[in-house]
Amino acid sequence: MQLTARQESLFAEARSYAAAEIAPYAGAWDENEAVPESAVAGFAARGHLGALVPREYGGAGLDAVSFGLLNEAVGHACSSMRSLLTVHSMVVHAVTRWGSEEQRAHWLPRLAAGESVGAFGLSEAEAGSDAGRLSTTAERLPDGGYTLTGAKKWTTFGQRADVFLVFARLDGQITAFLVGRDAPGLEVVPVTGMLGTRASLLAELRMDDCRVPADALVGRPGFGLSAVATSALDIGRYSVAWGCVGLLAACADAATAHADRRVQFGRPLGEHQLVRRMIADMVTDATAARLLCLRAGRLKDAGDPATVDATWMAKYFASVKAFRAAADTVQIFGAAGCAEGHPAQRMLRDAKIMEIIEGSTQVQQDYLAQAALRERAA
Ligand SMILES: Cc1cc2nc3c(=O)[nH]c(=O)nc-3n(C[C@H](O)[C@H](O)[C@H](O)COP(=O)(O)OP(=O)(O)OC[C@H]3O[C@@H](n4cnc5c(N)ncnc54)[C@H](O)[C@@H]3O)c2cc1C
Repeated sequence: MQLTARQESLFAEARSYAAAEIAPYAGAWDENEAVPESAVAGFAARGHLGALVPREYGGAGLDAVSFGLLNEAVGHACSSMRSLLTVHSMVVHAVTRWGSEEQRAHWLPRLAAGESVGAFGLSEAEAGSDAGRLSTTAERLPDGGYTLTGAKKWTTFGQRADVFLVFARLDGQITAFLVGRDAPGLEVVPVTGMLGTRASLLAELRMDDCRVPADALVGRPGFGLSAVATSALDIGRYSVAWGCVGLLAACADAATAHADRRVQFGRPLGEHQLVRRMIADMVTDATAARLLCLRAGRLKDAGDPATVDATWMAKYFASVKAFRAAADTVQIFGAAGCAEGHPAQRMLRDAKIMEIIEGSTQVQQDYLAQAALRERAA
């Protein structure tokens, strides 16, 4: 893949950390529907929550390719933990790119150290793929602050987060706000029983005249969706795409190990041609997805706006292929893969979530086809 020596060593370190400290517990976290505090603290102590925080604010200031490799390493071990890296980094990115100097100085060192965990509150019950229909409102107060009223239905790591990037209509225009967990009028309600990424501490944010100070506004009024959310979602999509590469590779690893070991009809499964086809698809898709992610990352690092479409394509391909690989992994494990607590079952449930978040498969197909048609018309 022609990585730099630094990127290679970061990836190797992240893989061995994830293999030792995350993968062995992913099943239990899934069952308990929570990544425990000790694991979040360990993740923060490694500096991973500061991956995208610029160095002058105490973070690692990783380039986009390195950040992607970190997501692959964590995603190989546990999609729930990877989703912490995703949403936290989306908030980091929004504050870095759109925050005032005061907001950067206040929040970035805390986010880098993991003293504050960030979460992203855009989706509402009636505004999912079509986020522009969100109905949470913000009103100005005489003291310059704001009150927010509405509900954010699905907030990854919402149960744990200390600060939420919330989108609301101010004078009808979608605007971004940083809402502290202790904001008066904010209620955080756990969401449980989800299909996949079950340990990602999902929560609904209910805001009833939730008071935030004047300096909570990020960017300018009306910049919420078109600028702040759009650029944060690009990072989120990029992170999920690389996470899917990790998931694909984990499926290929598990499926090949099992196919090598398990004997049926007098031969290992891996010697049956129809099983070999599934394995061939997995390893090919993992490689192709990684290359698409790498292309998106290199464009990001070069500051090329073409990264946006490249990221959509990478996430589309990687998530669809991760779901197929996870379904085939269950197939190769047979009944054992369907059983409660089996990693293949968890990977299949997690993979389905990847086709829904950060732009669903259909929304991405629509976007990519439109981009292709526009290019032809130009
Ligand atoms: C585990 C999990 C974690 C999440 N975490 C967060 C989070 O941290 N923050 C946050 O803000 N949101 C989060 N979400 C919400 C997520 O962003 C939404 O689920 C997603 O945007 C899709 O919206 P929806 O679920 O309302 O589906 P809908 O928009 O209702 O779509 C339902 C189906 O219709 C299809 N569809 C929609 N529009 C079109 C179209 N134009 N053409 C063709 N098909 C279409 C979709 O592809 C989908 O299959 C999370 C969701 C899940 C499941």
